[in-house]
Amino acid sequence: MAEPAPDTCDLIIRNACVLTMNGQRTIYPSGAVAIRGHDIAAVGPEAKVTAAWRALRVIDAEGAIVHPGFIDAHLHVNAQTCRGFFRGDASKGSKAGPSYADWKAALAPEDEQAAAALASVEMLRHGITAFVEPGSAFDPDAVAAATQAVGVRCSLADAYLWDDMQLMGNIPGLMSPSLAKRVPPDRARCLKLLGGQLHRNKDKDGITHGHVALYGEGTASEELLKAGKALADREGVVLNSHIGYDLDLAQAMEKHWGMSRFAYLKKIGVLGRNTTFVHMNLIRDDEVEPIMSADAVSVWCPFAYASRATVLRQATRLPEMKRKGAVIALGTDSARQSSSGDAGFLAFVFSAEVGVTLVPEEILEMLTLGGARAAGLETIIGSIEPGKRADVVIRSARLAELGPGVDPAHQLVSAGHGATADTVLVNGRIVLRGGRPTLVDEGAVIAEAQASVGRMGKRLGIAPTGLWPRAA
Ligand SMILES: [Zn+2]
Repeated sequence: MAEPAPDTCDLIIRNACVLTMNGQRTIYPSGAVAIRGHDIAAVGPEAKVTAAWRALRVIDAEGAIVHPGFIDAHLHVNAQTCRGFFRGDASKGSKAGPSYADWKAALAPEDEQAAAALASVEMLRHGITAFVEPGSAFDPDAVAAATQAVGVRCSLADAYLWDDMQLMGNIPGLMSPSLAKRVPPDRARCLKLLGGQLHRNKDKDGITHGHVALYGEGTASEELLKAGKALADREGVVLNSHIGYDLDLAQAMEKHWGMSRFAYLKKIGVLGRNTTFVHMNLIRDDEVEPIMSADAVSVWCPFAYASRATVLRQATRLPEMKRKGAVIALGTDSARQSSSGDAGFLAFVFSAEVGVTLVPEEILEMLTLGGARAAGLETIIGSIEPGKRADVVIRSARLAELGPGVDPAHQLVSAGHGATADTVLVNGRIVLRGGRPTLVDEGAVIAEAQASVGRMGKRLGIAPTGLWPRAA
């Protein structure tokens, strides 16, 4: 019998070491990926893929690692431009002058757009193709404009849904009168806004999605928590919330609720497969079972965990939970003092510190499949498998950090995790080539960010930090 005639596709990536992240986690050391429209059409050994498919365009990966785009499961993307103004632990607040919370409250839509564009270019360069904005952008349309212009996938939620501030005194640095004025902790306001970003899910082929987020950390009433979960269930999206950033606040929540936090959330029906909880720096013994049996997602932000010396009081349990089979994703939180490409390496390092050293394969699961679950997008992203969207990263074949390339998973997590992406596709479209964005002028993005920083500095009357004198 004759072989069937090859099918046509738009692009084949050949000569690739493909980490598929499929069910068996198959690696194709001499692999190829066929892409048609927004989707992955085929993946496998190069000889097999190229026999079955004819492409309009072929990219030779030169033997480089090709992997599904990483997902930053927690990024306050509008904070990217405050770098250099705020150092150290933002939760303590400042004795004098505007705080990090004041900065956030002063952002105009054009500033959020500038920050999100800067962050998006940075993410692509680090092999991140999607992120979850956890309901902290005041103008989600401004963030969507930036991410769509650069070509990054994201999921958005409405800003600062909170209606109970009695516990927030534990983290004064995250509250400011100007922030409370801009996003008042008012139940009627929250219930009205809830679900305001879900209209984005109507475009099934789009790169901008919507989910439900409550700020969390004890700032939501039982009524608001239940309303958020009910809406997420009805709409088939995730309910995202901060919990356990600060240990004192976590203990205050236990006192307030009269039981451990996850016992309470289970009791009121706000714990399930579609719930994503961020930070999780405190997990009590009696909380492991409810979290795992619900198959809820935990997002670990290792920089935020380490920057507050949390380990000295409470070693993270997330590596242990990952080992037991819990779904864990990784997030940056705000990239004030790190890059969104650092989370995987930091998780690798800090898991060793607490005695459950995660292996690179586990880190890669957290960055891909875990992130996709955290975003509620696991049916379309997180692995290179036929039918999923073509969010694909080709690392460089010519960088020393990615050599010698003996063990691709170890190489990628341990040494090659920086801005080492050569070519990135999102939704089947090439958005980074030769390490540079293809849809926007990188110089213009940086200039916009600098202009925004100038405006913000004047608006708030602040100067950059830094110990050393600046000569004229
Ligand atoms: Zn956060």
